[in-house]
Amino acid sequence: MALIVQKFGGSSVADAERVMNVANIVANTYRDGNDVIVVVSAQGDTTDDLIAKAEEINPKHSRREMDQLLSAGEQISISLLAMALEKLRIPVISLLGWQAGFKTNSQYTIARIKKIDVDRVNSELDKNKVIVVAGFQGLNKYDDITTLGRGGSDTSAVALAAALHADKCQIFTDVEGVYTADPRKVKNAYKLKEITYDEMLELATLGAQVLNNRSVEMAKKYHVELEVLSSLNPIPGTMVKEVTKMEKMLIRGVTKDSNVARLSVLRLEDKPGIAFNLFSKLAAKKINVDIILQSSGRRGTKDITFTVAEDNAELARDCIMECFPEIEEENVIVDKSIAKVSIVGAGMETHPGTASRMFDALYSAGINIEMISTSEIKISVLVDQEMADRAVSAVHAEFFPEGREY
Ligand code: ASP
Ligand code: MG
Repeated sequence: MALIVQKFGGSSVADAERVMNVANIVANTYRDGNDVIVVVSAQGDTTDDLIAKAEEINPKHSRREMDQLLSAGEQISISLLAMALEKLRIPVISLLGWQAGFKTNSQYTIARIKKIDVDRVNSELDKNKVIVVAGFQGLNKYDDITTLGRGGSDTSAVALAAALHADKCQIFTDVEGVYTADPRKVKNAYKLKEITYDEMLELATLGAQVLNNRSVEMAKKYHVELEVLSSLNPIPGTMVKEVTKMEKMLIRGVTKDSNVARLSVLRLEDKPGIAFNLFSKLAAKKINVDIILQSSGRRGTKDITFTVAEDNAELARDCIMECFPEIEEENVIVDKSIAKVSIVGAGMETHPGTASRMFDALYSAGINIEMISTSEIKISVLVDQEMADRAVSAVHAEFFPEGREY
């Protein structure tokens, strides 16, 4: 008998029929003799709808009240799923995040899990019950509800699996696993049998939607092996783990991230401390900076260009204006019409020439590269947003030619 944590995303529980489908998967796992803990997200677009309601009433709402609101989505799905399991005569109890012992810090809307008090969960397991836990939420030291940031239910599931030393953590979704590119956009995208934590982390951070990156970080830290699989098609998915057998695979995937903005500050005085001044201000405002480029201008000036998430573009612009009050408006340029296309794979560490193959594919497709950044296991380029899907297809075709097995 094993202890299995099964997580179902919003699309897997979107309506009554899907909830029954999930209940059947859970019931079968339970009837096979396993202890089962289920973590669910809010149904379908519930979280987006709740955010829209808040915006309509008061766009300047406090983050505490936002969490109070957003946690309601998962409360609906856990109770409905529990009722579906009752219908199948499975002993079951649903628990909100706080009832399941999730303790977080106090950063409303982006809280981090500090610990999980597993006593209640363990005592329900002792009663042979299936436990359905609300993902994405916890309680802070003021006894207020917090949420973990968008897509946070994955993290809830992994955290529970780690805390309980579960034998398996299965993440059920609406695709069949982790693909070499978004299967809805790239024909010939392949499903991977397995992928390492590090590669998955890069893919998740660089735009693959299938797993939340914090959940992968946590899985790596606590050695929780994940299986990503479909709730609609019962076939094996993708395993995410420390080492894979397919060590030699050069590239594991191609991603696109459109949530990127580029800011350029032109004709800054060329003296020490300028970059420090700017980037420490950005850091203080918790704005994540990705690619940075500094180039020398003319006559003792320099230009600094960097990228941030698009939602942070205005904040970053304010930072620049604060830092350089003398600067002319025309010397600060914000460009949101770009996207980042990346390739990820541990194999590239040992294979020179990977970058040039990527650039060649883009060149052959007539796509201009605007900025480049690399790390050991990834290469990212910025391209015009309009070209991004084509860029992904061209690069994917280069590294994953048709007719081979991956
Ligand atoms: N319901 C939350 C969201 O939509 C959490 C999740 O789905 O994981 O972001
Ligand atoms: Mg999700």
